[in-house]
Amino acid sequence: MNKAVIFLADGMADLPIAELGGKTPVEYAKTPAMDSIAANGMSGTFFTLPDGLPTSSDVANMSVLGFYPEKNYPGRGPIEAVSQGIELAPDDIAWRCNLVTVSPDGVLLDYSSGHLDETKARILMEDLQKEFGSDLVSFYPGVSYRNLLVLHGKKFSPNLDYHKPDSSQGIHMSELKLTALDDKAETAFTKQFLEELAVKTDEFLRNHKLNQNCESPANAIWPWSPGRKPAIAGFAERYNGARGAIVSAVDVVKGIGKCAGMDVIEVPGATGFIDTNYAGKVAAALKALEDHDLVYIHVEAIDECSHMGDMKLKLQAIEDFDSKVVAPVLEALKDRNDVRFAILPDHPVPLSLRKHTTTPVPLAVCGCGIAADDVAFYGESVAPTGKLGKLAGDQLVKLLLGL
Ligand SMILES: [Zn+2]
Repeated sequence: MNKAVIFLADGMADLPIAELGGKTPVEYAKTPAMDSIAANGMSGTFFTLPDGLPTSSDVANMSVLGFYPEKNYPGRGPIEAVSQGIELAPDDIAWRCNLVTVSPDGVLLDYSSGHLDETKARILMEDLQKEFGSDLVSFYPGVSYRNLLVLHGKKFSPNLDYHKPDSSQGIHMSELKLTALDDKAETAFTKQFLEELAVKTDEFLRNHKLNQNCESPANAIWPWSPGRKPAIAGFAERYNGARGAIVSAVDVVKGIGKCAGMDVIEVPGATGFIDTNYAGKVAAALKALEDHDLVYIHVEAIDECSHMGDMKLKLQAIEDFDSKVVAPVLEALKDRNDVRFAILPDHPVPLSLRKHTTTPVPLAVCGCGIAADDVAFYGESVAPTGKLGKLAGDQLVKLLLGL
């Protein structure tokens, strides 16, 4: 079995932009390291977002790792609860709970409350727990605006549809309500319970001292993507006993790894944004490769810049990813003849749309035993012409490990 490194650039794929001479951001940005993977190896595309499932990072990253979300998707809430080591009882339902900014007249302004400060987020969530925690509901702080809410007991149901906050900015809250997906009493009760809870929590947050005189007050809770305790088959079980490791700042990716029995390497200072600890992630990944077969290096910053619709910041984040993550790892492993490398995003977030789309993502693979095809650089326009063709499911991990 080979060793393998997957470079996962969250939300990096995009569309051609006139201002960039008709190139996409990754094609326009300076990316010599990613281009070298394409030039020395093979290119193709990878299908990450099956129909009927949310177009979200947890689904997409489960697809890249070959965990088939179309069969096993537990919901974002439970995945992040596992990441945080929150023990879910069989009747518990975990919800991702964003802290968002809503305008005085009820329009969702910011899904992240201005990329909420870590300490402030923790205080707000702890105060919500003190004020509203009960044997029916618990609040848990997570990473910045990404928090958790757990409903306890048989009287609740996870069968509600929701609007993803990062795709609902600028819309009035009255159009963004939860909808029941069946006519069971538990489902109706859960909808009513959460709506009544939100009225009280949001008033509490509006009046909270930390939300006075600030640009993006965290003045509303936004529960979404619920589910019960996950049951995902293990990485080793799927891949001939291979040992897998995850390096990421965000609970959604760490949670997927933990659900599948992969080792999650914690990196101090990894923030999930452009100020993250790139050097620390690289060092952690190289160390993990010593006693693991596959290391998954996930970087969130590009996705956040894309949802902000900030082209300059997206280009900067792409160049940082190339020079501070991909280049140093390739350099450190250049004399090894037992490693394969892959570069891909989990899904596109076109700057013009500021939300996820389902177009298969550009993929490039190089390393031991991989012959080069004609594709000379890494980008959305050329990747589909490469020798790899269209991959999906467990095809990428199996190719990388030589299974
Ligand atoms: Zn993503």
